[in-house]
Amino acid sequence: MNFEALGLHPSIVKAVTDAGYTQPTPVQEQAVPAGIGGRDLLVSSQTGSGKTAAFMLPALHKLASAEQAPMGRTPAQEAQSARSRGERVRFRPAQPKMLVLTPTRELALQVTTATEKYGAHIRRVRAVSILGGMPYPKQMQLLAKNPEILVATPGRLIDHMESGKIDFSQLEMLVLDEADRMLDMGFIEDIEKIVAATPESRQTMLFSATLDGVVGNMARRITKDPLVIQI
Ligand code: AMP
Repeated sequence: MNFEALGLHPSIVKAVTDAGYTQPTPVQEQAVPAGIGGRDLLVSSQTGSGKTAAFMLPALHKLASAEQAPMGRTPAQEAQSARSRGERVRFRPAQPKMLVLTPTRELALQVTTATEKYGAHIRRVRAVSILGGMPYPKQMQLLAKNPEILVATPGRLIDHMESGKIDFSQLEMLVLDEADRMLDMGFIEDIEKIVAATPESRQTMLFSATLDGVVGNMARRITKDPLVIQI
């Protein structure tokens, strides 16, 4: 089995080949075709199994395959030209297509770096990390670029949601990475609030070391007819 056989867009096959990957890992072999097909996923797998690419490759495939509308202006550019016309500038919230929630800053940064690597040959796909501890002005600047992909820790994301900086009405894909660790860290209420703010029509992928107990209950509540993958 190679990456082409998984049905991935050529620009993504090129990126993983550039990264030196010759064949998909077992979790990628199962998750990528199902993810491309729009299926919700519950995946029990460990760090090191290649799980980041298992959710990021189908997401990037969809962004690469979507009809590319003519290049619009970014909210920051629109604000600039409104200012030059002497108009008052209204803040426009970011409208991401994909959201990845992670338990820690470190994991969020790793996911963002991996996204840049796998998406290197796709035009106009930007990934931004929203993390506790990062200065607000910097994060406002990142959100003003209206990135397609947000990678975030739950607490800081809630702050931005509640102050109207992010609008999830266009969200197509939600990923919970290391969901068991997020619950252990006490993020359950934040996660419930975030999920409630996303469209019912979204595709959901949940990755966790275990799919039992509390995490299993939540997983089943937030997914629809998921494919369960146990590696
Ligand atoms: P992860 O489980 O996502 O943290 O990935 C663990 C490591 O495996 C990372 O360093 C990835 O770059 C690498 N990796 C992911 N998929 C593959 C693959 N198909 N072939 C070789 N290495 C991979």
